[in-house]
Amino acid sequence: MKPYLREHVPTTLSDIPNTTAYEAGYLVTKNAGWRNVRPVIDVEACVGCLQCYLYCPDGVIYKDGGKVAVDYDFCKGCGICKTICKAGAIEMEAET
Ligand code: SF4
Ligand code: SF4
Repeated sequence: MKPYLREHVPTTLSDIPNTTAYEAGYLVTKNAGWRNVRPVIDVEACVGCLQCYLYCPDGVIYKDGGKVAVDYDFCKGCGICKTICKAGAIEMEAET
């Protein structure tokens, strides 16, 4: 499942969550700040097989008009989607 961002501004110490997630399916902060490469999908080459969607460990690839797209707020740049894509439709590009 694609995570959702829920803004959380703690007002007391006990309000501060122990991890970046405090409720299933939600994160309190974007976690892509340390990514040094990002997957870029060539929608012309993509055949819509959804293997990347199924294998992304963070669930941040979503269906988009018969193809797929990446939620860059949460993608960690692991490259599993590129490895699994048999159509060669994903390239990892350096973050600038
Ligand atoms: S694995 Fe490749 S071809 Fe299949 S949906 Fe993902 S990007 Fe498209
Ligand atoms: S690089 Fe990793 S986290 Fe990002 S979309 Fe691909 S599989 Fe998911």
